[in-house]
Amino acid sequence: MRHIIVIGAGQAGSSCVAKLRNSGCTDRITLVGAETVPPYQRPPLSKAYLMQEMTLERMFLRPETFYTDNDVTLRLGAAVSAIDADAQTVTVGDDVLRYDDLVLTTGSVPNRLPASIGGDLDGVFVVRDLLDVDTMAPRFTPGKRVLIVGGGYIGLEAASVAAKLGLEVTLVEMSDRILQRVAAPQTSDYFRALHSDKGVTILEGVGLQRLTGTGAVSGAVLSDGRELDVDFVIAGVGIAPATALAEAAGVALNNGIAVDAQGRTSDPHIWAAGDCTSFPYQGGRIRLESVPNAIDQAEVVAENIMGAGKDYIAKPWFWSDQYDVKLQIAGLNTGYTDVVSRIGAGQTASFWYYRDGALLAVDAMNDPRAYMIGKRLIEAGKTADPAMVADPETDLKPLLKA
Ligand code: FAD
Repeated sequence: MRHIIVIGAGQAGSSCVAKLRNSGCTDRITLVGAETVPPYQRPPLSKAYLMQEMTLERMFLRPETFYTDNDVTLRLGAAVSAIDADAQTVTVGDDVLRYDDLVLTTGSVPNRLPASIGGDLDGVFVVRDLLDVDTMAPRFTPGKRVLIVGGGYIGLEAASVAAKLGLEVTLVEMSDRILQRVAAPQTSDYFRALHSDKGVTILEGVGLQRLTGTGAVSGAVLSDGRELDVDFVIAGVGIAPATALAEAAGVALNNGIAVDAQGRTSDPHIWAAGDCTSFPYQGGRIRLESVPNAIDQAEVVAENIMGAGKDYIAKPWFWSDQYDVKLQIAGLNTGYTDVVSRIGAGQTASFWYYRDGALLAVDAMNDPRAYMIGKRLIEAGKTADPAMVADPETDLKPLLKA
C-alpha cells in the first residue's frame, strides 16, 4: 500500500483527497493542515462570514465525518516544517512520515504592510484565514473608522461589508484606479460608482505613507499628505504563493511551484495544485488564485496519482460579491485590445474583452446570462460580434450556434 501525503488542508488539499477516494484509491492517505479547523471555503471570509450571515459549519467543504468515513487521516493544527525529497519524508512536529507520493497544496500567504511603516501595530489586519477574520470581526461596529489599503477584490469586498455594517470606510489605491491589475477601466468605473453610492471614500493614485499610533494604530498619513484618524486598518495588498517548503526541498519554482500539465513538480514523487502553483496554459505559464482552479487542478492531480495521465486544461472563472452585485468573470483578459460594454437595466452590465477580434474574457455584473454565454463562447474558442454584444436588446444565445 502506498502512502499519499497531502500538505495543506484547504480547498485544493480537500478536493485532492476526495477525488483520490472517488477514483478508487485504496492507499493510505494523510492530509496535514496548519490551521486548526477542517478544510473550509475561503470566499465567505470577506463576504457572508464577515457579515455574520454564515456560520463556520456551513463553510466546511465537507462534513467533519467525511475524513474518518473515507479513511483519510486528517492532522490539523500541524504545519509540515520540512520535506526530505531524497528520503521521501516530511516532518510534522516530532514525527517524520514517509511518503510514496506527496501533494503540495499550501495555498498563498498574504502580503503584509511593512513594520517600517507601522504594519506591525495592533489593529492592522489581513484577510486570509479564519483566525484573521475572527480577530477583526468584533471591530466591525457602526461608526468605527476603517482604512482599507488596496483596491483589489479583497479590499473592495471588505469595504462593502464594512459599509453595510455602518462603518466609516476609506479605501486607498496607489495605482490610478481600483482593480487596475485585473480589470478594464469600465469595470473599475462600475465598482467605484457602486461604492461611492454606499458612502465609501475611494482615493485612487494615493498610497499609504505610514500608519501612526502607540502600540495600536490610530492614524494614517497618505502619500498626498492627507492625515486620517483610523480605528483599524485592513491590508488587501495581494498574496504570494506559499513556496517556502517546496523551495527548501529543492523543488523548482517559477512564479509559484512549477508543475507540468499533469501537476507534477520537478521531483517525480511530488505533485502540487492550487494557488501555490504555476502551470502551462496556452503556450505560456500562469498562476491562478481562485476556487475553481484549486478544485479542478487538484482533481486532475488525484487522477494522475491513480495513473490517468491526464492534462489539466484550465477554464478560468471567478466571482466577487459586493453589496447586492454579483460579479462573475469568465476567461482571462491578459493582452486585451478592446472592451465592448453591454449596459442593461439597473445594475446589470457586462464588459467584453477582445484581442484583435477574439473574445478573451467577460466581466458580468448581475447578469448571469451574459456570463454563462461568454464562458461557453470562450471555452469553445468562439468570438462574439461586438455590435450584437453592445446592444442590450439583442439575445446573445444565437451566438453559441454561430
Ligand atoms: P488554501 O485554500 O489557501 O489552502 C492552503 C492551506 O495550506 C491553508 O490552510 C494553509 O494553512 C495550509 N498550509 C500552508 N503551508 C502548510 C504547511 N507547511 N503545513 C500544513 N499546512 C500548510 N476565489 C474565488 O474563486 N472566488 C472568490 O470569491 C474568492 N474570494 C476569496 C476571499 C478571500 C478572503 C480569500 C482569502 C480568498 C478568496 N478566493 C476566492 C481565493 C480562493 O479562496 C483560493 O484561491 C483558494 O482557497 C485556493 O485554494 P488552495 O487549496 O490552493 O489554498
